[in-house]
Amino acid sequence: MRDLRELEEEEIREFVSAQDEKPFRARQIMEWLWKKSVYDFDRMSNLPSSLRDALRKNFSISSLTVKTEQVSTDRTRKYGFSGTDGNLVEGVLIPSRQRVTACISSQIGCLLNCSFCATSKLKNRRNLTAGEIYVQVSLLQEQSLAWYGRGLSNLVFMGMGEPLLNYENVLRSIHFITSETGMGMSPRRITLSTVGLVEGINRLARDKVKFDLAVSLHTANNEKRSRIIPVNKSNPLPALSEAIQHFYGETGLRITYEYLLMKDFNDGLADAKELAEFCRITPCKINLIEYNEVEGSMQKKTSPERRQAFKEFLDSRNMVVTIRRSRGQDIDAACGQLAGRSTPRS
Ligand code: SF4
Repeated sequence: MRDLRELEEEEIREFVSAQDEKPFRARQIMEWLWKKSVYDFDRMSNLPSSLRDALRKNFSISSLTVKTEQVSTDRTRKYGFSGTDGNLVEGVLIPSRQRVTACISSQIGCLLNCSFCATSKLKNRRNLTAGEIYVQVSLLQEQSLAWYGRGLSNLVFMGMGEPLLNYENVLRSIHFITSETGMGMSPRRITLSTVGLVEGINRLARDKVKFDLAVSLHTANNEKRSRIIPVNKSNPLPALSEAIQHFYGETGLRITYEYLLMKDFNDGLADAKELAEFCRITPCKINLIEYNEVEGSMQKKTSPERRQAFKEFLDSRNMVVTIRRSRGQDIDAACGQLAGRSTPRS
């Protein structure tokens, strides 16, 4: 059965008209689907029962339910959402003094097999639908209000999966997250994080998107990068650099580089020099992230002294650099740790 959330408003209008209903019913259905995030036809209380019956006969509505929940000592909360196929997809709420950031997933599992990432170890793999992505955000919004007393201030596509491999669904979900028909969140509060897929970044540039782009760079040395990110072989750094310049040229948005500091791999001053040179191509900021050791990975976390020296070198080159403290490590909710291993909700 077709997912009603996959239909454009025009298609819903055609369906409504085929049921001899007034055109404004289509707008009401859109509001139930996106603004109110309802996935039960019976709750669409302002629709006539004949129209609800017709919808029920012809469509399903994608939804997720909160299946698991873990709370870190630092108040980070990780959720496992389950869909109709029983696969778990994970989302994380990260509170800080002024903000609540939701980290959401775009795929179950990931094909790209980066060596430092737990998601790539999952066997089940598929794209999430736009509806499933949207529902994660709406469920996290509810949880944020319930636990922190405030809604989401920021949204990052940094959970499970490579968002640019699920381009249409991710952009459709962002359309509804930002539009007045949906949540009305500002696109400037949304960041899409990619491992650096050149074609996808060029497409974002052509689409002149209004949300921020983060690139998981992790090293500015092409040969080293191919060792930890296999897709770098077909998306090498010179091509990535061109795509980033294209993105900046079309959108005017500052790029964020994510850099996981791994001991004796990418944490030396020669690495910092290569990074500073690569990042010079457009205005940018660099997030230095503590590496979270993942089962089966060779990489280890760097020492605080080497991390500080790395940062100071970049500071001396006038780069905008932040050291990001990893959150939710004790519940495997930190960067690169999402692997569908949450424990059941009590
Ligand atoms: S880091 Fe991102 S792109 Fe690489 S395997 Fe993990 S989810 Fe996929």
